[in-house]
Amino acid sequence: MKPDTPKPVSQRIRSRVQESGQRYHANDNISAFIEPGEIGELQKEVESKLTQVLESLVIDVEHDHNTRQTARRVAKMYVCEVFRGRFMPMPSVTEFPNAAHLNELMIMGPVTVRSACSHHLCPIMGRLWIGVMPNEDSDLIGLSKYSRLADWIMSRPQIQEEAIIQLADLLVEKVNPDGLAVVMEADHFCMHWRGVKDNASKMTNSVMRGVFLKDGALRREFLSLINLKSSLSPGDGFPSRLRHLFRQFLRELLVLLERRQGLLREVGERGIAGACRAFEQRDGFLMIHFHVLGVGLVEVLSVLALE
Ligand SMILES: [Zn+2]
Repeated sequence: MKPDTPKPVSQRIRSRVQESGQRYHANDNISAFIEPGEIGELQKEVESKLTQVLESLVIDVEHDHNTRQTARRVAKMYVCEVFRGRFMPMPSVTEFPNAAHLNELMIMGPVTVRSACSHHLCPIMGRLWIGVMPNEDSDLIGLSKYSRLADWIMSRPQIQEEAIIQLADLLVEKVNPDGLAVVMEADHFCMHWRGVKDNASKMTNSVMRGVFLKDGALRREFLSLINLKSSLSPGDGFPSRLRHLFRQFLRELLVLLERRQGLLREVGERGIAGACRAFEQRDGFLMIHFHVLGVGLVEVLSVLALE
């Protein structure tokens, strides 16, 4: 009888996750399903598969002194560094009761963002700001804990729109405030390094919760305090032959916004035009990363077919 070959560690972890019914997308944390000692094993498994990738790229990993250790280095970087937010448990956070009954706007930031896009595994580097409006029953957490929680969420293959929603959900759960705002501005290296090779690749988006959604003055106070300047306007680097498409996009968006009561009145047509943050041409489509700051329309990714 042949002895059973042990299952690769990734398969063991995956079956546990599947049994629980939990999702295990690139931006999900699966630390609850990893047993002591398995992180090292996982790193070994990733290393051996990365060696195969290098071999498939026809790189002589045996004789090329520069790539001999690359699989090992990249495996360690993925599992223990840049994607550790998937594999490590949440950093412990002590919550303090709001004994002083603080009820003034608190702003944390800029917090450095280091992440990677889940489409290309290219770096996303940026900054984020967190606004908290506490109430008497809020649990306050230490200032440095905001960056540690943000780092835990960001150290996963992500897309920016989902990353800040994950962070906002986590902070609402931990702090239990009257309102919460997160604004993130980031540079997407997959747009520099590949694809359109466009240097205007910054994207800004925000999530507003609670009183930040209802109170326009509070939103304006927060946004003016973080003093974020818009990173890209359509007149700035937008390909002129695509201007008509952009105008068409704005018209369609106006129709869409008219259905959402009050939104259009607050933003106005000029505000919408100024909210275009980044664009990307891919496979015959023009994609516009678009965002209207602070009106609860979190982000819109518009895709237009190019003729
Ligand atoms: Zn990408």
